[in-house]
Amino acid sequence: MADIVIMSSSATQKQTGAVIKKIKKMGFDINLSKGAEKTIIGIIGDTRGISDEVFRIMPGVGQVISILKSYKLGSREFHPQDTVIKTRGVEIGGGNLTVIAGPCSVESRKQLLKTAEFIKKSGGKVLRGGAFKPRTSPYSFSGLGFEGLQILREAKEKTGLAVITEVLSTEDVDGTAEIADILQIGARNMFNYRLLQKVGGSKKPVLLKRAFSATIAEFLNCAEYILKEGNKNVILCERGIRSFDSEFTRNTLDLSAVAVLKKESHLPVFVDPSHGTGRRDLVTPMSKAAVAAGADGLMIEVHPRPAEALSDGFQSLTPEMFAQFMDEIKPIARVMHKKL
Ligand code: PEP
Ligand code: MN
Repeated sequence: MADIVIMSSSATQKQTGAVIKKIKKMGFDINLSKGAEKTIIGIIGDTRGISDEVFRIMPGVGQVISILKSYKLGSREFHPQDTVIKTRGVEIGGGNLTVIAGPCSVESRKQLLKTAEFIKKSGGKVLRGGAFKPRTSPYSFSGLGFEGLQILREAKEKTGLAVITEVLSTEDVDGTAEIADILQIGARNMFNYRLLQKVGGSKKPVLLKRAFSATIAEFLNCAEYILKEGNKNVILCERGIRSFDSEFTRNTLDLSAVAVLKKESHLPVFVDPSHGTGRRDLVTPMSKAAVAAGADGLMIEVHPRPAEALSDGFQSLTPEMFAQFMDEIKPIARVMHKKL
């Protein structure tokens, strides 16, 4: 099996071109990484039938590698450089620390517009807000649906912020993608393969949240479902996993997953300490730790009046707390050489 062809440092352009031509002739697409020293050619597709011998004998080829992992497109071996996602003037990954903030749910025009203004003023780059809400109880507020999306559109036009919102079902993806700059797949839907394939066919970046009980390999395989459909702009988001202590924290924020994912994958890695802890007083300390662990971004819940929030008020920061939060993460971003 051949997945990656590494050209030797003395390979000529013509030799590299011949390898690329051969791969394409076999019906595969390529991912080209040109480093200062070496050129790495990743072969996209089901490579189980190709013998590495085919490339090993070609002039200029240094090494042929097969990836035995079940995820390939998302792996660091296949694509050594960090993926950088650009959407609505925001650059995600590759040395940037991007803060996504906003209410758990879009509740009203006034609530969202007020929050969005504060977020913009404090340096947040992306506005979050759920229009379709997956709730534990079917009797809880489940979002404003398409009306919520229209409010997000207005907030986006007024502030210039990029917007992220969750999609719950395949039939809502196209309508949501008309307004959202980033599509969110929630923890409850991480394993919804049809939904992953559908957003994989969208042109919009996707933020994929880790399911409560997913292993890191399962998480990466779910990202692979999206990548396989041709959407290269996937963000991985750690949001806490189920553990045995739910008395003090809602979930256990797995920050070792951040360091592992940064090694294993080239995709940007975000952390959501709001759902990860369930407590507003833990949002800032866990954000600092997340940035120190290598996170490329944070997702923070902010509400103008958390006590009146229709969902997740307990873990939401007020706009004033959010401004303070931004100030407190600045020094950590600087130490980690991240642009905030
Ligand atoms: C959310 O971010 O609105 C949300 C529902 O989070 P999660 O899917 O991580 O529970
Ligand atoms: Mn929430």
